[in-house]
Amino acid sequence: MSARVIDFTMSEDQLWTDHRRHIPSVDVVVHDMGSSVDRWGHDQVSSAVRRVLAQARADLKEGRTAEISIAALRQCAEAALQEAGRPTLRPAINLTGTVLHTNLGRAWLPQEAVRVVVAAARSCTTLEFDLETGERGERDNHVESLICELTGAEAATVVNNNAAAVLLTLNTLAMNREVPTSRGELVEIGGSFRIPEIMTASGCRLVEIGTTNRTHLGDYEAAITADTALLMKVHTSNYRIDGFTHAVEEIDLAVLAHQHGLPLVVDMGSDNLVDFARFGLPLEPTVLATVSMGADVVTFSGDKLLGGPQCGVITGRKDLIAMIRKNPLKWALRLDKMSLVALVEVLRLYRSPASLRDRLPTLRLLTRPVTEIKAQAERLLPQLSEAVGSCYQVGIAACRSQVGSGALCPVQPS
Ligand SMILES: *Cc1c(COP(=O)(O)O)cnc(C)c1O
Repeated sequence: MSARVIDFTMSEDQLWTDHRRHIPSVDVVVHDMGSSVDRWGHDQVSSAVRRVLAQARADLKEGRTAEISIAALRQCAEAALQEAGRPTLRPAINLTGTVLHTNLGRAWLPQEAVRVVVAAARSCTTLEFDLETGERGERDNHVESLICELTGAEAATVVNNNAAAVLLTLNTLAMNREVPTSRGELVEIGGSFRIPEIMTASGCRLVEIGTTNRTHLGDYEAAITADTALLMKVHTSNYRIDGFTHAVEEIDLAVLAHQHGLPLVVDMGSDNLVDFARFGLPLEPTVLATVSMGADVVTFSGDKLLGGPQCGVITGRKDLIAMIRKNPLKWALRLDKMSLVALVEVLRLYRSPASLRDRLPTLRLLTRPVTEIKAQAERLLPQLSEAVGSCYQVGIAACRSQVGSGALCPVQPS
């Protein structure tokens, strides 16, 4: 019988004191948890038990529970220990319809790349070692010629992500100087990358020109002063202004920049190495086309359309890339060995465009026919219904997919 039934004349305080006597001590519960102590250690187990006891006390006091058993306390403490040891960063299933989802880790690596990542993770590599000369090497050497072959650029270097690529480029080429940029291109991508803010962080001075919807060549020309470091063009990856608009093409901007002895820097964001129109995706300029239009430096991500690891690629003129490489920030922003080997493997796939769709998961996912997506949904439906239980209704509905990560504007699967 519970205390409440034995004597209903007891005051609340007396009742509480009475309950408290039945709560075992920390030591008694810990003593009962031998195998957990072996696994997690005495300190961790005691602290979990202390938390569980505090909760039990509160539950008793508030009347949420009438009785507490040692077995129940032990179970709660064990569950708390399991939960605390569970990583929060874990595999997920992407059912969002956004293929390159920044919050879900963007591109999946192809098998070829996964294999070399594992090998690089578990042994030494020639990361910064030149086997020919037996001397210290450059990590860029493993990837530069491949990038140049695919983009037509003279030189290339890689860093941790494209935000770092933009930061490093501007810091090297425009520190304390002016960079005229169209108001229509002062974009925010993915919530924390904003062109004006990255420009300030790089130490250059943004000179806003034109308007949100229209910027002309004359606006750039009027903004050029003795303090101008370079002309900048940013790909407005994730949004589009329709209607009464005008932007200056790279080709015209390059001519103007070169007339004034200035480099043209283009932040492409997304990383089109092949013409995606051949796979039924919207036509977007390739890096190769942008380089051939006269851009002196082009930056792009490795884990957007390119379908590789997180990284930022800086391609362009040999003298400018050499300056960028010498910047002390380059070391601070360097690409790690696992991403580097993955990038090399993914770029190697691009040398055989005919088999690219079969081997590159990003491209395979982006070009899946609707019938295939529907068949998969039908296959998954019963399992998903079972997994989420009877509280949820699971059904198949048509929706629009998008590439995501600011890579191309929304597109419908063909
Ligand atoms: C995505 C994007 C970036 C940022 O690249 P991260 O790889 O996310 O660092 C910068 N500029 C443009 C235009 C982009 O689309």
